[in-house]
Amino acid sequence: MKKLFILFLIAANVTVFSQTKQQVINDIQKRQAEYSSIAMDIWKYAEVGYQEYKSSELLQQTLKKEGFSVTAGVAEIPTAFVATFGSGKPVIGILGEFDALPGLSQAAKPEKESLNGVAGHACGHHLFGVGSAAAAIAVKDWMKKTGQKGTVKFYGTPAEEGGSGKVYMVRDGLFNGVDVVLHWHPGSGNSANASSSLANKSGKFRFYGRSAHAAASPENGRSALDGVEAMTHMINMMREHVQEDSRIHYVITSGGKAPNVVPDFAELYLYVRHPNRTNVKEMWEWMENIAQGAAQGTGTRVESEVLGGVYELLPNETLAKVMHSNMNKVGGYVLTPEEVAFANKILPTPGMFKSTLDATNTIEELKLESSANGGSTDVGDVSWAVPTVGCRTATWVPGTPAHSWQAVAAGGTNIGVKGMMIAAKTIALSAIDLFQNQELIDKATVEFKAKTGGDFKYESLLGDRKPALNYRN
Ligand SMILES: [Zn+2]
Ligand SMILES: [Zn+2]
Repeated sequence: MKKLFILFLIAANVTVFSQTKQQVINDIQKRQAEYSSIAMDIWKYAEVGYQEYKSSELLQQTLKKEGFSVTAGVAEIPTAFVATFGSGKPVIGILGEFDALPGLSQAAKPEKESLNGVAGHACGHHLFGVGSAAAAIAVKDWMKKTGQKGTVKFYGTPAEEGGSGKVYMVRDGLFNGVDVVLHWHPGSGNSANASSSLANKSGKFRFYGRSAHAAASPENGRSALDGVEAMTHMINMMREHVQEDSRIHYVITSGGKAPNVVPDFAELYLYVRHPNRTNVKEMWEWMENIAQGAAQGTGTRVESEVLGGVYELLPNETLAKVMHSNMNKVGGYVLTPEEVAFANKILPTPGMFKSTLDATNTIEELKLESSANGGSTDVGDVSWAVPTVGCRTATWVPGTPAHSWQAVAAGGTNIGVKGMMIAAKTIALSAIDLFQNQELIDKATVEFKAKTGGDFKYESLLGDRKPALNYRN
C-alpha cells in the first residue's frame, strides 16, 4: 500500500513537471510574432563586429522591459552587455550573438541578390541573439511564477566573427560564479551533440617598404608586396610540416595601388586553426618567424597584430544529454507549402550540401564523440571557464552551409524564425532542469574539472591586448 502511494506521488510529480514544461513551451510560442519582428530588425541592421550598436541596444531594451537589470559596455566593449534577473545560486548563463558578416549582403529570396551590398547575417546571429533572449525571458517568467531561487544571466556577446568578443568577457571575469552556460547556433538541422571546435588564432602582418618609380628607379624601392609574397610562399611550404588536421588560410588585404609604383605598404590577414590550441600557438610562433624572414629577405620591415584567438570547445556530455532530451520534447517543425517552394529553389544552387527537407522536423541522434567540426567559436573560451553546452537548430534550408548567401536568405524568412523558436524552447527547458536539479550541475562540474585538469589556468590566446574594436574598419 505504502509502495503504491509512493509510486502514485512520483507519477503525479512527473505529470506536474511535464505540464510545467509544456506551459513554458506554450508561453514562448505565444510570443513568436514579437520575437520574429526583433530578429528581422537585427537581420536588416546587419551590423558587423563591434559595430552592432542598434542590434545590441534593441536586445538590451527588450530585456530591460522584462525586468532584467542591464550592464552595458562591459569588458571595454561598447556593444557588450550582461542582463541579469534574480539573485543567488544557482547561476545559469545564456549566450547571445548579433554580429553580421561583411560582403554577404543578400535579400530574403531564393536566388542570389544583394540587399545593400554591405553585410549580411550569413551565420544567423540575428536569430542567435533573439532566440537566447527569448529563452532568458521564459526562464525569468518561470522563476517568478514558481518562486525559484537563483539567477539567470543573458550575455550580449559582440563580434563573434573574427573579433573574439567573448574572450575579453572571459578574461575580465564576467563568467566568474556562473554554474552552467547555455548557447545554440543556427544551422540546417536540429542536434545537441557534445562536439568540439577548432582553436583559432588570427591577425594581420603589415609590411613596410619604400616606394619608387617601378620603371625609372626600381633600385631605390623596396616592395612591401614582395614581403607579403615571400611570407605566403613560406607559409605554403610550412603546410607540409604541420599536423594534417591544421587549417591555415589568408587573404591579402592590401597589396599596393598601381603596378608602376613600388608599394610601400602591404598587408596579410591570416588564420591558423587546429583542434588543439597548443598546436595553434606553436604554428603562430612559426608564422612570426616566417614574417621576420620574409622582411629581411626583401629589405622591408614587418609588424604583426593579433586580432582574434579562441580556444577549442570543451564538450560536456552530462549537459549535452540534458539538452538533447529537451530538444526531443520540443520537437522540430514542418515546412509550409510556400516554404517548401522556397527551399526547392535553394536546394539546387551551388555550394549546398546533400540533405532532405524533413531535416527540419527531425531531432538527430545524440553523438557524444567530441570531434571538432570545421569552424571555430569564441564560445570555446567560455567552455573552459564554465561547464557549457549548446545545440544547433534548423534555421536554414537543410543542406545550407554557414557563411553563404543561402543562409542569409532563409534567415530572413519564417524558416529562420521557426528554427530560432526550437532553440529558445530547448534552452529554456534545459535551464529549468538545471535550476531544479543541483545534482545535474554538480555532475557537469565534476566532468568539467576532470576534463580541464586540476592545474589548468586560463590564459587567453589574445594575451593582454585590448579589444580590437576597429578590426572591421
Ligand atoms: Zn560564423
Ligand atoms: Zn556563427
